[in-house]
Amino acid sequence: MSATATDQRVFNFSAGPAALPLSVLKEVQDEMLCLPGAGCSLLEMSHRNKIFIDILHDAENGIRSLLNISDDYAVLFLQGGAALQFSMIPANLAKDTGKKANYITTGTWGKKAVNEGKKECDFEVVYDAADSNYNHVPSADQYNISDDAAYLYYCSNETIHGVQFADEPTVPSSVPLISDASSDFLCRPLDISKYGLMYACAQKNAGPAGVTVAVMRKDLLERGSATLPGYMQYKNHAEADSEWNTPPTFAIYVLGKVARWLQQDIGGLAAMEKINREKSQLLYDAIDNNSGFYKGHAVTEARSLMNVTFNLPSDELLAKFVDEAGQHELSALKGHRSVGGIRASIYNAMPTEGAQALASFMNDFASKNG
Ligand SMILES: *Cc1c(COP(=O)(O)O)cnc(C)c1O
Repeated sequence: MSATATDQRVFNFSAGPAALPLSVLKEVQDEMLCLPGAGCSLLEMSHRNKIFIDILHDAENGIRSLLNISDDYAVLFLQGGAALQFSMIPANLAKDTGKKANYITTGTWGKKAVNEGKKECDFEVVYDAADSNYNHVPSADQYNISDDAAYLYYCSNETIHGVQFADEPTVPSSVPLISDASSDFLCRPLDISKYGLMYACAQKNAGPAGVTVAVMRKDLLERGSATLPGYMQYKNHAEADSEWNTPPTFAIYVLGKVARWLQQDIGGLAAMEKINREKSQLLYDAIDNNSGFYKGHAVTEARSLMNVTFNLPSDELLAKFVDEAGQHELSALKGHRSVGGIRASIYNAMPTEGAQALASFMNDFASKNG
């Protein structure tokens, strides 16, 4: 990257596709015209080429080692974004089983999953936080999951509302737990053995758009009916090592580099969590220290490490905030239209300096305009 291009980079608070580590972008740039030893760009190479297969396995192993994933789980690279999972999950794991799929809805993405899931199977929403405009997550005594539910589905971090589960919901041991972790995948260590399936589109916290990672307990692979469209069957992807059809080669390649960056440069997910807690605390402190001016959306216990959402006293001040932040090289802060206000997405790749710069801008702005 030329010095000027690097210099022009701002602190990018985009919700997704989102910031990537600069070192990863530079490596991609270095290898763009010719992948070492390949004689061509990765973009020009067969997905059956041994060099690409090694890249795919590297990416898989990177995720396996970051999350400590055992051989009881398959790691799949899929397309169709998180959105296709809204249909694949119920079609494979609930349809024609005579069991009900259970859903906890704590924001827009959970609601979309419900709308798609309803088309595929019997259904029960066991908790819906809509009445509070999705500002919290339920405690275990607020919902009931029957022992013979097909699964319990929830979204661990609602990207638009900025609401995150601190811990997994409680499920009976007979019920697989399924999580949409699109916007908090790899943000902290997790015990994967609690899950039947966890999936994440890459473009929030793990890479570029185009690939979705699914970590799935192997016994669940068998549940999908062979009458489903081939692409929709998890089993096909597992048996073909994520090459049932042409996978998104470039996205998998970048994802692998992000996994290596997390392991080698950051030091793994516990170290990443510590940094994420520091970054988010800077912003939540700026909200709380100016609480007459900023109003956080999420209740304190459900505040997200990844998406910090808050509002200002008026639409005029909101517009002014976004505008002046832009002049300070703080970009993409406008909240989603359904919630309004500001959303600062501070995924893994956002450096601490970015959160510091935004927090000090917030303090300044409040004292000048409050
Ligand atoms: C962005 C997002 C989605 C949608 O992802 P697509 O890849 O656009 O389908 C789903 N769930 C969550 C939590 C998200 O943040």
